[in-house]
Formats: sequence, structure tokens, C-alpha cells
Amino acid sequence: MSTEQRVAVLHEPERMTVETRPVPAPGPGDVQVAVRAVSVCGSDVHYYDHGRIGGFVMHGPLVLGHETSGVVSAVGEGVEAPAAGTRVAVEPQRNCGRCDQCAQGRYHLCPWISFFATPPVDGSFAQYVTVPAGRAHPVPDALSEDAAAMIEPLAVAVHAAGKADIGPGTRVFVSGGGPVGLLCLQVARARGAARVVLSDPVARRREVALRFGADAVIDPGAADVDVEPVDVVLECTGVQPAVDLAIAATAPAATVVLVGTGATLTLPLDVVQARELVIKGTFRYAHVYPAAIALAASGAVRLDEMVTSHHDLDGAVDALLAARRDPDAIKAVVRPG
Ligand SMILES: [Zn+2]
Ligand SMILES: [Zn+2]
Repeated sequence: MSTEQRVAVLHEPERMTVETRPVPAPGPGDVQVAVRAVSVCGSDVHYYDHGRIGGFVMHGPLVLGHETSGVVSAVGEGVEAPAAGTRVAVEPQRNCGRCDQCAQGRYHLCPWISFFATPPVDGSFAQYVTVPAGRAHPVPDALSEDAAAMIEPLAVAVHAAGKADIGPGTRVFVSGGGPVGLLCLQVARARGAARVVLSDPVARRREVALRFGADAVIDPGAADVDVEPVDVVLECTGVQPAVDLAIAATAPAATVVLVGTGATLTLPLDVVQARELVIKGTFRYAHVYPAAIALAASGAVRLDEMVTSHHDLDGAVDALLAARRDPDAIKAVVRPG
């Protein structure tokens, strides 16, 4: 096997180069994964544009990419599974395993968490990565390389739907028709939601949402917006007008789950009080990869249909800019090869 690999490195906003770096060897308990597909996330684009997301700031070169699939190419000391040759979806986080949060099973909230493509931790726009063996989740043959990469954003939606306790009969409002909104919509459907309404100001996105199973779509900017009350809101925008509309749509005792990267927003606490709303934050996910893989493998959630372009490592910038250049783009995928 080659000892060198190609990696796309972001040096500063809008300056990315492809470089040669050593292939990382798997440490004890880790596996090395030969990367097959990396789907692009809005957070990757945000780092490319601004070099930061809120309090997460680049202070040196950063490899982007965290939605990753591949094949186990080597295993470290003490690893029994997965074996070399196993196709996997990579859960891109590493926790300490010793703190209170880890002990409670909330490993995603570990204060010492490291996560791909979050400064200073490098991501997977690379030919090889290493992860703890337990974070390399085997996928069935039915899942394509692209779909296996998109288990990561699907995990976000599965975690959010779980927080909202969506089940048969639940009336759901999804705020925002980007990739995560479309995944939340599909997961709500798969869990038996009675009715799923999605709102997005962009007409094309509303059309796509209907294709992915929304019962109705709403243009939040329209003059006559009138939403039937819902039991659950999955807020995937982090934008004030969208949040306002989402809160307005709640039935009494509804749960509002914040999924979109939120800035400082205003909430109508009088409405929260009068309706006894439950507002829940979500940060990434924990323990949901197996469920996400099963949902995708069963066909209940369609991931391949969300992929709208493919790029090699040299085209990583094109992948990052795809959503901006093509109004029909949903998900771009980089194949480091
Ligand atoms: Zn992501
Ligand atoms: Zn910990």
C-alpha cells in the first residue's frame, strides 16, 4: 500500500489546495478507512467561505469533509471488528470515554469531543482517515457509497426525530427544505407521522419536498400563510422568520426541536408559556448510526436521489460551490479515489 495520500486542504477562506500527506496509521482501537465518498455539508461550505462557524474558528490549515463512507483498509492493535475489507459509514466523532457525559451515554456532548472538519481536527477530503473501530459502522451491500456517506446527515435527522418522539399519528412541521430538512421529512414519514408539512421560501425546494413525501408545502413569505396546528416542529433553518412561523404553527403542548445551526434568536416566550411548548436543542447525534443505516437500507429514506453531482478531489471546490451555482443542486459528493 502507498504510504502517501492526496488530501484537499483549506488554508484560509476560499483558498484550497490538493497536497500529498502521509497515510495515517491506525492507532490501538482504531481502524483506517479508505475513503470512497464524502457528501458536502453546509458547514463545509461555511468554513470555505468564512473560516469559522460561530465559536469554531480555523487557526491553521483544515481538511474539510465529515459525511464519509469507505472500506476498512487496516486495523489497529486490539481491533476485532470491523475487519479489513468491510464497507462502512464513518461516524466522524471521537470522545474521551471517561467523563460524566460519556458515562451517561451522551458521548456527543463530551467536552473533549473531536469531530471531523471542526478546527483543529481534519476531515475526510482525503484518501484515508482513521477512526475508533466502533465509529466505523458496517453497511449492507444495498447501500451505495454515496448513501453510506449520507448516513451522517441522516443521523442528524434520526436524532432530532427521536428527541421529538415522532410516532404514528404525529403531525409534523419541517422548517427548511435543505438537505437536513428533506431528511427530517423522510424520517418523520418513516416513523409514521400522520401529516408532514414543509416550509421553504424557494419554490424549487418546495417541489423537491413534495417529491420526497411532504403532504403539503408552504411559502413562508406568502401573504396568506395558514398552517394547521402541529405536534412537532423540526426547525432546520436557524433563521428568525422561519422560527416565528414554526412557533406559530404549534398546537398546545407541542415539541419544537432545534436542528438548524441557530444564532441568537428571539422566541415568543408568551406563546411558549401559554401553549406549554417544549423547546429542545440538538447537537449532532449519538447512538443512531445503526438505525439510520437500517432506515436507508429498507428504502424508507431515499438518499441516492438527493445526490446531484460527483467530483474528484481536485474538484472539491466545485463540490463546495455546487449548491450556489446550480439551483437544482441538493447534495454534491466528492470521491477522493
Ligand atoms: Zn454535516
Ligand atoms: Zn467524554
